Amino acid sequence: MTQDELDWSDAGFSTRAIHAGQAADPSTGAVVPPIYQVSTYKQDGIGNLRGGYEYSRSANPTRTALEEALASAEGGAGAAAFASGLAAEDTLLRAVLRPGDHLVVPDDAYGGTYRMVAQVFGPWGIEHTAVNLGNADAVLDAIQPGRTKVVWIETPSNPLLTVADIAAIAVHAQSAGALVVVDNTFATPYLQRPLALGADVVVHSTTKYIGGHSDVVGGALVVADGAQLPVGLVGPTGTTSVLDAVRFHQNASGAVAGPFDAWLTLRGLRTLAVRMDRHVANAAAVVELLRHHEAVTEVLYPGLDEHPGHELAARQMSAFGGMVAFRTGSEDSARAVCAATRVFTLAESLGGVESLIEHPHRMTHGSVVGTALEVPDDLVRLSVGIEDADDLVADLSRALRSVA
Ligand SMILES: *Cc1c(COP(=O)(O)O)cnc(C)c1O
Repeated sequence: MTQDELDWSDAGFSTRAIHAGQAADPSTGAVVPPIYQVSTYKQDGIGNLRGGYEYSRSANPTRTALEEALASAEGGAGAAAFASGLAAEDTLLRAVLRPGDHLVVPDDAYGGTYRMVAQVFGPWGIEHTAVNLGNADAVLDAIQPGRTKVVWIETPSNPLLTVADIAAIAVHAQSAGALVVVDNTFATPYLQRPLALGADVVVHSTTKYIGGHSDVVGGALVVADGAQLPVGLVGPTGTTSVLDAVRFHQNASGAVAGPFDAWLTLRGLRTLAVRMDRHVANAAAVVELLRHHEAVTEVLYPGLDEHPGHELAARQMSAFGGMVAFRTGSEDSARAVCAATRVFTLAESLGGVESLIEHPHRMTHGSVVGTALEVPDDLVRLSVGIEDADDLVADLSRALRSVA
């Protein structure tokens, strides 16, 4: 059997991330999928396509490689890659919701997700309820059987690092006829596999850990094998398959990932496992400094015993991730810490090799101030990078000293 024909489904995570969907180029032997920077494809007679490629909005070989690799990484039946995480979310919600439907969203969802749910889908007749997903009873109460068509999970959440029980929520949501969607951007498929825990669809902002180098914006949907549209809905292709509906909408609305973006994202995915191991180790070193520091009133990290989601996170994740948040007791001191670091760069986004620091209230979550999703103004969020841990600890320690 040649390498091109291998089925990677039994291989380990890193082997799949490096090989699934990425066989050597058949015509040249190039070991990395080339950037097919092309919009259209020669047809060998009308409708006689080579490998199914017709026009690059519908499909492009570089994007196909990324989609196959992502599907393999998450253990899904198929994936679709988009121009951004929000483009992926927008496409999914349009594929599975109709006016009059209701969805449940976390009360500390990524700000852009909530803004889209409230301000884009709200006016089109989609209602929502924002709940604390760390509280299973509140989630149950928010589900309106027959009307709730999607339960949106983000775990760990952004920026408060709340942990939600994917398996438990999935059972309740699915028995009420709702689809379970998990934004797995923070955990990545290396640390958490929502489809294996019962979710129907995984959403990624591949801009973050999967891309991993702060050089590309992208998003993806990965759909579980056999996932069905909410009860009563038939998709535009006449089936009830979520994957069919997602693929139809990806092409029909067209917010696809371009070839170069797909290529960069795939390059990032290949090293995801080794990067995550370092992010996790460095986060642990940073947490150790923060939890004993007098200028810090609270550390939010699922790896801490005292974190309310600690045991759950230990069960459903293989490690606790590279995102850390902490509180300083006042907005002024939080802002001062953000302004005082040198190795941690003051910037939005996360998941890159370089460490970032930010003030969610004024930055990433500025769009939800005044809503149920408003975050504390003394909160600082860190995306702990893969530099040397000693340098990260020294940088934060100096910045904290300057405000203590
Ligand atoms: C960044 C982010 C998104 C949105 O993705 P974009 O690529 O910026 O459109 C969605 N969810 C989470 C958790 C994110 O961090």
